[in-house]
Amino acid sequence: MLDFWFRASLPVWLGAIVALVLWGLFSAVVALLFMLALLLVVMAYRARQLYKLGIWLQDARPETIPEADGLWDEVFSRLYRMVKKHNQTKQKLAEELQHMEQATAALPEGVVILNEMNRIEWFNPIAQHHFYFDAEHDNMQDITYLVRQPEFIEYIQESNFSKPLMMRPARHEDMVLSIRLIPYGEDKRLLISRDITQFERVEAMRRDFVANVSHELRTPLTVVSGFVENLQDMTDLNQDSARRALNLMAEQTHRMDNLVADLLTLSRLENDQSPLREESVDMSALLGEIYQEGRLLSGEKHTLRLEVPGNAKLLGNREELHSAIGNLLGNAIRYTPEGGTILLSWAERDNQPVVSVQDSGIGIAPEHIPRLTERFYRVDRSRSRETGGTGLGLAIVKHIAMRHQAKLDISSEEGKGSTFALVFPVKRAIH
Ligand code: ADP
Repeated sequence: MLDFWFRASLPVWLGAIVALVLWGLFSAVVALLFMLALLLVVMAYRARQLYKLGIWLQDARPETIPEADGLWDEVFSRLYRMVKKHNQTKQKLAEELQHMEQATAALPEGVVILNEMNRIEWFNPIAQHHFYFDAEHDNMQDITYLVRQPEFIEYIQESNFSKPLMMRPARHEDMVLSIRLIPYGEDKRLLISRDITQFERVEAMRRDFVANVSHELRTPLTVVSGFVENLQDMTDLNQDSARRALNLMAEQTHRMDNLVADLLTLSRLENDQSPLREESVDMSALLGEIYQEGRLLSGEKHTLRLEVPGNAKLLGNREELHSAIGNLLGNAIRYTPEGGTILLSWAERDNQPVVSVQDSGIGIAPEHIPRLTERFYRVDRSRSRETGGTGLGLAIVKHIAMRHQAKLDISSEEGKGSTFALVFPVKRAIH
């Protein structure tokens, strides 16, 4: 710093010494005139350098940096180094950005960067193909103006990052996309779109297969079980072994019949592309009906209780709710030994409607609970079979719960009993 001041003021000091000499030789006026002229020259020189600097700054490129000497040369060469370094950093960043862009462009998935207002900041070619974006005009457009399907708009606005959305893009009717939002940075979001058409096709084939198999099985089964019943009624058939065989056959065909019925229900629920047919369901009446069916099934072997206010109502599909709650109550009866108690009840928990079935039955060990809703998963195969189970009941309940955006809460203690609760979202409550 000191060095700078010394060098910057050196011409003035030297001038002052010369002026003093001139004062001694001639007069003070000569010395002052000399100083004045010197200061004017110094100012003019600096003004010229400043002018050159100003001109150069309008388009600061290292190769056009002005030439100068002394202090100014030093200033210019520092600026030169700074601009050069800045340019190098800029180029490095641009290269890195280009690498990133090339890598994201090569991804097999669509990527869109959205800002906090849902405006598109960037997208890769796959996203462009999925959503028909226009590379020139769609930057900074609100994505909900460009992709207008209601389910998409709801998904973006809800910002529920935990689950993906399946949808068919408007201009690719035969394509199925899985869309996922991922938050990052400050209020930014990454939208990833994946083409799952092939996967969906295989899924649809599997669903069709189950539906077809079930239909195919149904007819022969009905015929066989009809004949078995006829044979059982024949009076001259009194050999014990034949009767036992017939009874077994009847039992087995009945089981197969139940299985086919459950498979059909499942495939209908899975195939149902249309949204849930909703109505205001009188839950007091529905639970009353299910309770009566439960009493018949139990045959007075258990103490069944029903707790529901007279005006309980829910927005949902009556038939599906009947099937789900009926399954839960059926299970409670089948997995509770004689003399046990079962409570079917309705309540509101934090404004959420809850239907629960509580039993004092055999209970379930904790390691089984997460898997109960898988198809054909049973804790105890023989008990399930003995009681006429198909292993599909809870899979059906889970599906129906999902279609109603409800949660199936299971709590259980081995040997003490279980509680299966359907917890519905607040929006389904009707008051
Ligand atoms: P299943 O037809 O075998 O009953 P589900 O899908 O209805 O099939 O149930 C799956 C398994 O969950 C059952 O096999 C049983 O082990 C267990 N389970 C279901 N409900 C109860 C309950 N209330 N108490 C004890 N175990 C149960």
